[in-house]
Amino acid sequence: MNYNNNDKGNSMTGYASFEETVRFHGHACPGLAMGYRAAIAAMEALGVERPKDEELVAIAETDACGVDAVQFVTGCTAGKGNLIIRDYGKHVFTFFDRKSGRAVRVLICQNDMRERTEMDELRKKVFTGIADEQESARFYCLMHEVTENLLVLPVDRVLKIEEVRIEPPIKARIFTSITCAGCGEPVADAKTRTVKGKQVCIPCFEEGKPEE
Ligand SMILES: [Zn+2]
Ligand SMILES: [Zn+2]
Repeated sequence: MNYNNNDKGNSMTGYASFEETVRFHGHACPGLAMGYRAAIAAMEALGVERPKDEELVAIAETDACGVDAVQFVTGCTAGKGNLIIRDYGKHVFTFFDRKSGRAVRVLICQNDMRERTEMDELRKKVFTGIADEQESARFYCLMHEVTENLLVLPVDRVLKIEEVRIEPPIKARIFTSITCAGCGEPVADAKTRTVKGKQVCIPCFEEGKPEE
């Protein structure tokens, strides 16, 4: 699969290649391809490069495959706190650039995917284990076709991008570590509960610790 770049990434733009993104995610799939297109289109629209820390923030309205492409390509990751998942089950990603204050909302349109109905039917069979060899081969063949298509279609056939105004998302907080009065393990203070004047972690709180 060749999307305008080689295995070492796109040296013209510095974006990660789709092949590298597939290695990160574990497999090539339409969701990953959609996230990949969305991530690059958003970075181009905002004129930003892969952020080292938190200048770029992504808000994902799905928790599916595409999120991995967004994390890998844009550097907006769960661990850095600049990836916010609001799982509404929609293939929509909003990107906010803290430097410029600009934001774009990227909607993935899959309306003219003719293979979609067949693929959905087959998916049910494949994932419930009732597909025969032929059906499952057809399913993976369609997946491959759709994925390749998503990578080469003109951007306006795959995405709708609009500039939006949003409030800057709250920055990731740095937590102080304290010792849980229940289990004795270190825990971020913002995640503790106070019981009888003692701070305990959430699992201990749920177990009714500290008991006296
Ligand atoms: Zn996937
Ligand atoms: Zn505890």
